[in-house]
Amino acid sequence: MIPISKPYLTADEAQAAYDTILTAWITQGPKVMELEERFAKYVGARYAVAVSNCTTGLHLAMIVAGIGPDDEVICPSMSYIATANSIKYVGAKPVFAEVGEDYNIDVVHAEKLITPKTKAILIVHQIGFPADIDAFKALCNKYNLKLIEDAACAAGSSYKGAKIGSHSDLVCFSFHPRKVVSTGDGGMVTTNNEEYYNRMKLLRQHGMSINDRVRHSSDKVLFEDHLEVGYNYRMTDIQAAVGIKQIEKLDWIVEERRKIGLYYLEQLAAVPNIRLPKENENVHSNFQSFSIYLEPECKISRNDLMQRLLDMRIATRRGIMTTHRQTAYADYCKGLELPVSEDLCDRSILIPLYIPMHQEDIDKVVNSLKALLKS
Ligand SMILES: *Cc1c(COP(=O)(O)O)cnc(C)c1O
Repeated sequence: MIPISKPYLTADEAQAAYDTILTAWITQGPKVMELEERFAKYVGARYAVAVSNCTTGLHLAMIVAGIGPDDEVICPSMSYIATANSIKYVGAKPVFAEVGEDYNIDVVHAEKLITPKTKAILIVHQIGFPADIDAFKALCNKYNLKLIEDAACAAGSSYKGAKIGSHSDLVCFSFHPRKVVSTGDGGMVTTNNEEYYNRMKLLRQHGMSINDRVRHSSDKVLFEDHLEVGYNYRMTDIQAAVGIKQIEKLDWIVEERRKIGLYYLEQLAAVPNIRLPKENENVHSNFQSFSIYLEPECKISRNDLMQRLLDMRIATRRGIMTTHRQTAYADYCKGLELPVSEDLCDRSILIPLYIPMHQEDIDKVVNSLKALLKS
């Protein structure tokens, strides 16, 4: 079976985890600090805060951005549900914007949704293709809103020559195995804002005034206080040790993924009635996923195509979900229609892309798609 994805984890990462376990420093220790420093440096941000996953990172971002009950935050419905959930966690209201053909939030529609209650815009770099950050920065400046980036899928992607993570003050990444680098579960928030940085470090560890590293290295007895009601959103040092190895390889991983993504683009270019992902000018995608949109003229339905591919032992997934059509949002979104997002969701499939992927498997995917989609 050709799987949809596979994390790229090797003996290097296993050794790093093993070594860390034997040091007995297994949470909030030197490895977490090292990963934060390396990740910040890698993306070109001043600070990075390691957290337990991207969803908890988004929650902290909402808190430090000052989002609270009855505030409105504009975000795409077409995203993993955690995007909108993070807004709900602080009692605020997600207001769903449409997306464009590139699956990223539509700036024109987003502007129409701004009300006096709008406090922030949460953009998503969907499946690793960066959204137009500068357009959203300009919009946020015009209306005095906070900009938050859900970069769960976008580690290693870049926008206008700079890595995602360097452009704004709250950028949240995921290290779940379905993303391009993994620590099992895990996440990171990057920022250039020192206040945000300090508050997120406090909040991710129960609001504790003195961190473990400081207490363990002190010659004097120290007593901590808890400055506000915080959370346990810690990453462990075992995970961080794995993450350090992953970040060392991230540029290479992205290049290898791009080779496969660009090969798919070239090989499938002539297939009729489909739309392939397009890299907008000035962006560099990590090809976290490869999505194909089936035009209405397509002879085979999306679901039949998925089944036929599965019969050939090729795994696929439906396109990105729409949050407003999930049961959890049924009451909240009653009557809401987002035709572009719904159509993209219903007519898209994700095809296998992982490294290392054998050339014969890549060609099997290409040839099976060509055979099933020929008109
Ligand atoms: C995966 C994903 C998340 C959630 O990441 P976790 O690390 O699993 O919490 C959030 N937003 C988007 C867009 C994602 O793809």
